[in-house]
Amino acid sequence: MQYISTRGASPKQSFLQILLGGLAPDGGLYLPESYPQISLDELKSWQQYNYRELAFAVLSKFATDIPAEDLRAIIDKTYTADVYCNTRPGENAEDITPVRTLEPGLHMLALSNGPTLAFKDMAMQLLGNLFEYALAKNHDSINILGATSGDTGSAAEYAMRGKRGVRVFMLSPHGKMSPFQRAQMYSLQDPNIYNIAVRGAFDDCQDIVKAVSNDLTFKAQYKIGAVNSINWARVSAQIVYYFKAYFAVVKNVGDQVSFSVPSGNFGNVCAGHIARMMGLPIKHLIVATNENDVLDEFFKTGRYAPRAQTLHTSSPSMDISKASNFERMIFDAVGRDAGEIQKLWSKVDQGQGFELNAAAFAKVKEYGFVSGESGHADRMKTIREVYERYGQMLDTHTADGYKVGCEYREAGISMICLETALPAKFEESIREALGRNPERPKGLDNIESLPQRVEVMNNDVNTVKQFVVAHAQD
Ligand SMILES: *Cc1c(COP(=O)(O)O)cnc(C)c1O
Repeated sequence: MQYISTRGASPKQSFLQILLGGLAPDGGLYLPESYPQISLDELKSWQQYNYRELAFAVLSKFATDIPAEDLRAIIDKTYTADVYCNTRPGENAEDITPVRTLEPGLHMLALSNGPTLAFKDMAMQLLGNLFEYALAKNHDSINILGATSGDTGSAAEYAMRGKRGVRVFMLSPHGKMSPFQRAQMYSLQDPNIYNIAVRGAFDDCQDIVKAVSNDLTFKAQYKIGAVNSINWARVSAQIVYYFKAYFAVVKNVGDQVSFSVPSGNFGNVCAGHIARMMGLPIKHLIVATNENDVLDEFFKTGRYAPRAQTLHTSSPSMDISKASNFERMIFDAVGRDAGEIQKLWSKVDQGQGFELNAAAFAKVKEYGFVSGESGHADRMKTIREVYERYGQMLDTHTADGYKVGCEYREAGISMICLETALPAKFEESIREALGRNPERPKGLDNIESLPQRVEVMNNDVNTVKQFVVAHAQD
C-alpha cells in the first residue's frame, strides 16, 4: 500500500515512511492510494475476531511494509486489558472497546478505557509502539515537540513514556489546566518525558511549536517531530473500533448501523468514513460539534468557513476553528482531484473558506454525513437525562455526541454513540450537571498529591529551544 498526498505534489510513500512525519512536503495530508475493499464474505469472517485479531485484519491492509509477525506483535502488546483497564464494573476489559446498550437500538461505544481516560489512547498507544519499532529499525531517535491544552498531550506522554529513541517535550499553559489534568501529565517521572509549563495561554504554546518547526535547520538538527491528529497511523488505528462496534450490535452482518461522533479535528469521524469506504455498512456518520460549529455549518450548507476565533466551551477537546483532517474526506468528495484541493485550501489559507460545488456536496451526502450542534445547556441537560434514565454518567463531549445522535435515530438502524472521554476528566462540569463528583477509576484517587515534574518557562521560543538542545541527547 502506497500513500499519496491530498495536494498531489509529493512522491508516494509507504506506511513506515510517513509514520514519523506530519504533513506531506506539499502541505497536504496522506491517504492510501486506494481504500482496501472488504467483501461481505470477508466481513463475515471477521465477525468472531477479538480486538487484537480485528486490529491485525484491518491494519495489515494499510501497514503493508511491516512484516506480518512484527505487526501482530506490536498490536498484541498494545491492545491488552492491562492498558485499557478503566472499564466499568461488570464490563470485560478484554473487549478493549466494550459496547453498552442503553435500550434496544441505542448503544454507547466505550473508547476511553486507556491510561488517560479519553479515546485518543486508542490510537496513541499504538503509535508509541510503532514509533519505537520504526526508530529501532533505523537506529534513529526523535524529539517530539507538542502543545496541549489537556487531552492530546497526556495521551502522547502516556504512549511515549519509556519508549527507546523517543523524547517528548510537551508545552502546556501554566496554571490553565485542571488540577487533575496537571497531575496526569506532571506526575510522570519517566526520564524521556519533559513537561514545560509556559507562562501564557494554549495559543502561545502552539505558536512556540510552530516557530520551532518553521526553523528547518533546528528541526533537522534536533530531529523534531510531532504526533498530531493528522498522523495517518492514528487515523488508521481508529478505523478498527468502527468494525468492532459494528459486530457487537448487528443481528446479521450486512445490516446497516449509524455512528454519532463528537468531533473537533475530524480525525475520529474520518476513520469512520474510511471504514465505510472499505465496505462497512454504515448508514449515517453523525458529526456532532459544540458551540464551535464550523463543521455543522458545512454539513448543512456545503460552506466551509473556518472561524477567526475559537470559543472556550465545557467540551474543550472539541474547541477548534479549523478541522485539520477534514481535507481527507473532501479529497474523496471531489473525486480525488488534488488540483481542486489546492484551490479550495488556498482559500482556507487566506482565511476565506469555500463553498463546495453541488456534485461534490452530493457525494458528501452519499457518504452518509449529517450533523448537529450541542451547546452548554444541551450538555448539562443531556448528562442529567442520561443519568436519570439509564444510570450512566457521560462526560461533556460524549453528551454532545449523544444529543445529536438522538436527533437522527430511525427505526431498524442501530445508533452507536462514541464515548470519547470518561466523566472523571471533567469533574467541574459533572458537578454542575449532577451536583456530585464522578467516580474516578482505581488508582487515580490521589493523583493530585503525587510529586510533579515540570519546568515553568517564560513565553519565549529561544528559552524552549535551549531546553530542547540541553536535553535532546539525554
Ligand atoms: C480529541 C477529542 C475529540 C475530538 O476528536 P477529533 O478526532 O479531533 O474530531 C472529542 N472528544 C474528546 C474527549 C477528545 O479528546
